[in-house]
Amino acid sequence: MTANLKECFRCRDNGFPNTMVGFRKIGEDATGKALWKPVQSDGKDHIHKTKENPNPQPQPEQESNGESREDKIERLALAKIEALNNIAKAIDKFAEVMRNKP
Ligand SMILES: [Zn+2]
Repeated sequence: MTANLKECFRCRDNGFPNTMVGFRKIGEDATGKALWKPVQSDGKDHIHKTKENPNPQPQPEQESNGESREDKIERLALAKIEALNNIAKAIDKFAEVMRNKP
């Protein structure tokens, strides 16, 4: 559960006062200082409001790992090729078993 909500200074500086955020501890840096990540009251990652984007929506989890669309397409294509190769191997194996049957 997130602790007390605080006004986000970054949003305030961008012209959006009274944006309340909570903070979730995500770890510590090399010096042992706690690292906090701003989260919204609904528990989703907080994205700072800007004039260009006054109502930012948190990105879905699977989009936030830094993988580009092209990388994702390539990864899925490779997974598909691998699956097809496995099927082909299984068919070969099956054919071999049948051939060796008395
Ligand atoms: Zn903010």
